[in-house]
Amino acid sequence: MAISCVHLKAGAYMVCLTHALSTEREEIMGLCIGEVDVNRVVHIVSVIMLRRSDKRKDRVEISPEQLTHAASQAERLALQTGKPLRVLGWYHSHPHITVWPSHVDVRTQAMYQMMDEGFVGLIFSCFHDDKTNNLGHVTVTCFQSTNQSPEGEPPMYERLEIPFHIVRNESINEPCLNALIQLPRILHDEEEDAYNQAQLVKSNHLDVHNRAEMDQLNEGNMVCDNRILNDVHNSAVFTKSVCHQLEVLTGPLMQCLQSRLEKNKHILESLNKEKESILQQLSS
Ligand code: ZN
Repeated sequence: MAISCVHLKAGAYMVCLTHALSTEREEIMGLCIGEVDVNRVVHIVSVIMLRRSDKRKDRVEISPEQLTHAASQAERLALQTGKPLRVLGWYHSHPHITVWPSHVDVRTQAMYQMMDEGFVGLIFSCFHDDKTNNLGHVTVTCFQSTNQSPEGEPPMYERLEIPFHIVRNESINEPCLNALIQLPRILHDEEEDAYNQAQLVKSNHLDVHNRAEMDQLNEGNMVCDNRILNDVHNSAVFTKSVCHQLEVLTGPLMQCLQSRLEKNKHILESLNKEKESILQQLSS
């Protein structure tokens, strides 16, 4: 039986959105933790950001290690909250394209539903400027897959749109906050990997390229020069991308969290004052 609707906590939504907006070059993805109630409503309370192992378009595969890690995190959360929480969904972004799930997405979703029929998929379409020129317009969809072919025939999956609502919560819960601060780390690690890979590729390439050259010229100095230039270039690109990340993501994120902290301190202060005055009224 399909899910009737999805309730996404505002804190979890904030994490997904921040994650989706962190890069327009490739799709990002993560897992959702939540529970299904008796009315077949999925409540998503937290999300886990994932590092993508395969960055090719439409390849949003989740490794068994990532699933196991997410499952144990859900278990821990279930113990803390006393709710039957489990990994109940996945989200990914569609930068520069429409929000609708691709054939691969629908098939992937069907596969997850085989493991857990309550599993839902969320897609965030961002950086997609349509003809009405809605700059900064983000669209979100929630879906499941249904098999449209008759019994005994090879499955033909189709998208089933699930209504979804963002539910207000008083504060961002701890797992959401933790997920949020994971983001700069994930992005940094990805840049570092790219840098290491570039170094490796370039040095291999240089070896072959220059060995022939060396035979011709019988001169070793040029190889050395090229290598230094390449090193300088690669580390400059790496530094630039890390600075860019600090500027557009880590900095604003810290500012945002800091202002939330300030706001919470103010609330705490006024609540304390209120408490004092009530206590005074009681004693008099
Ligand atoms: Zn997709």
